[in-house]
Amino acid sequence: MTQKVLNPCMHCPHCDQRASVRTSRSLSPLYRELSYQCTNVECGHTFKCGLEILCSLSPSAMPKPGIDLPLSTTPQALTRRRLLAEPANPIIFYGKPRVDATEPAVVACTTSTN
Ligand SMILES: [Zn+2]
Repeated sequence: MTQKVLNPCMHCPHCDQRASVRTSRSLSPLYRELSYQCTNVECGHTFKCGLEILCSLSPSAMPKPGIDLPLSTTPQALTRRRLLAEPANPIIFYGKPRVDATEPAVVACTTSTN
């Protein structure tokens, strides 16, 4: 089975043409070095880039000891983590509020009209 290799898109800083990855090597679990070659034959520039994992958008379910990444604090990442942490059907809630919740549960609103 072949696996498609993603080519992180990079452009040549001299001629702005697309560059392609020629080699890559892992220098640590969080850092990879890639060698690029400009696709413009008249330019011929080759250069190296660093690809670093900066943070987690959602935590791993299989955390590895020694891998300590900060959690992203962007609004999108916070919303994603909040949605993943909620129960499967958070809209309809009957009974007492959750006492173990760190945030208020989503409770369906009901209004009574007299
Ligand atoms: Zn170039």
